[in-house]
Amino acid sequence: MKFERRNLSQYDINSAWKKSGGLIFDSKPYGIAYCPKQWCKMTSAVMDAASYGNHSDASWVVDHIVPLAQGGANDYYNYQAMHNYCNSCKGDAR
Ligand SMILES: [Zn+2]
Repeated sequence: MKFERRNLSQYDINSAWKKSGGLIFDSKPYGIAYCPKQWCKMTSAVMDAASYGNHSDASWVVDHIVPLAQGGANDYYNYQAMHNYCNSCKGDAR
C-alpha cells in the first residue's frame, strides 16, 4: 500500500532538525544534531546540517516518528531528523 508523501517545506525540515537537538541559523538547519537513540545504528549519532539528503555517514533525512503506514501524520509535529541510513533500517522494520 502506498502512502502520499507530502513535499517538505523548509519549516518542516527545520522542525525535524530542531526536534533532534539541532539549531536553526538564517532560517536553515545549522551545526549538528543527534539521531534518535532508539533507532541509531551508526557508530556516531551525529548528523551534519549541511549533509541533508546526501549519502555521507552524517547525512540525514526527515523521518515520520509515527510511520505513515501506522497512521502517522504528514505534519511537522510528527517529524524528526534521522540518519539517512537509520531511516532505511527503520523503514525495513515496519
Ligand atoms: Zn542514526
